[in-house]
Amino acid sequence: MSEITAFRDEVRNWLEEYCPEGARAGASGETGDAMQRWRDAMIEQGWTVPQWPKEYGGGGLDRAQARVLAEELGRVRARPAIMGGMGTGMLGPTLLEYGTEEQKKRHLIPITRGETRWCQGYSEPGAGSDLAGLQTKAVEKGDHFLINGQKIWTSGAQFANRMFALVRTDPDAPKHEGISFVLLDMDQPGITVKPIRTIGGNSPFNEVFFDDAIAPKEDLIGELNHGWTVGKRLLQYERSGQGGLGGVGGTRQSPRTFALADTAKQYRGEKEGRIEDAAVRDRVLTIGMNQTALQLTQRRVMAENRGGETMSFATSIFKYVSTNLTQELTDLRAQMMGTQGIGWEGDSFDRTELDTTRGWLGSRAMTIYGGSNEIQLNIIAKRVLDLPD
Ligand SMILES: Cc1cc2nc3c(=O)[nH]c(=O)nc-3n(C[C@H](O)[C@H](O)[C@H](O)COP(=O)(O)OP(=O)(O)OC[C@H]3O[C@@H](n4cnc5c(N)ncnc54)[C@H](O)[C@@H]3O)c2cc1C
Repeated sequence: MSEITAFRDEVRNWLEEYCPEGARAGASGETGDAMQRWRDAMIEQGWTVPQWPKEYGGGGLDRAQARVLAEELGRVRARPAIMGGMGTGMLGPTLLEYGTEEQKKRHLIPITRGETRWCQGYSEPGAGSDLAGLQTKAVEKGDHFLINGQKIWTSGAQFANRMFALVRTDPDAPKHEGISFVLLDMDQPGITVKPIRTIGGNSPFNEVFFDDAIAPKEDLIGELNHGWTVGKRLLQYERSGQGGLGGVGGTRQSPRTFALADTAKQYRGEKEGRIEDAAVRDRVLTIGMNQTALQLTQRRVMAENRGGETMSFATSIFKYVSTNLTQELTDLRAQMMGTQGIGWEGDSFDRTELDTTRGWLGSRAMTIYGGSNEIQLNIIAKRVLDLPD
């Protein structure tokens, strides 16, 4: 038996013993206790972040083992043990590279246990695409920085208890050279969070105001005034997640393409098991093929980079292709439903139709957050293709 097959057996046996029914999708009734036991067991194993080193609360698995674990978790339909979010996908990997030993111990372990919920304080009213133009000021005061200014579009700030932020620590230096990367507590008197309501009625993001807010100096990541390097690296992790390079890589087949074909048959007609309208069939197939090509490329890049530098400027390519493809897919699904694909509420629409409208509108933001399409293309032109400015 190969090592990886033995590992799969080990995972299966472990899941049998430690993943209760109440922690699997579709469980009904009170599942709080089961979820608590599941969370504790996963944390104990280090499998909430399987590829992080064990000393920081991870599982120390290699990519192949992590893939097996993901497959087996999927097979038993296990619910996520923790809400990882920006902690596991963005800050954690950045700290593993740039944090001191003490910072890693202090912050990574609470992330693996789901105890901290992080938000990203990058964008400001005058600094989005031109992020290095940020003006939020941090002044050194003994053992801490005193922070004044404003962030905007801060996703989840109303639920977060921690923030990683880029702040200006030297207003006289050239703009990329006076920035520092700090961590701060959201539960402090100097911070005010104001949710921004969108046209959809929800508030996915916020304005965050700093009035003499405090960030301890021990939580300065990287060197003073050299936070731009750390901040850019974190963006690469963010974009790699958005581009499908996070975790263990894309799944083998895309359920979304099958679902799209089913939608086409339901709303645009079916003949002998095929989508009746040839033009619609062509569009569904094109998206399906592009999606498969993207997934194969994601897997190839991740395999080629085993243990190496997957997270380079090339993450912009994956972010660009992946988010644009998702927009094409959500456009087509809504179009195929006709007027049923633009409902907002009411009995004349079923749940899938209402979700389609929301999915279509929600996907507009994908080519803005994490850096807009134009910014990704600029990065690809300059940093990947080496084209002149
Ligand atoms: C849903 C959502 C969630 C977000 N969450 C967060 C978050 O948690 N934390 C955070 O810090 N930020 C967050 N953002 C902000 C996001 O990073 C910015 O919106 C984005 O970087 C664009 O900046 P901007 O909105 O200021 O637009 P601008 O920079 O003003 O850009 C406006 C337009 O001009 C174009 N443009 C700008 N400069 C150039 C250029 N040099 N070349 C070509 N075209 C250009 C842009 O592509 C865009 O089309 C979020 C945004 C959204 C939509």
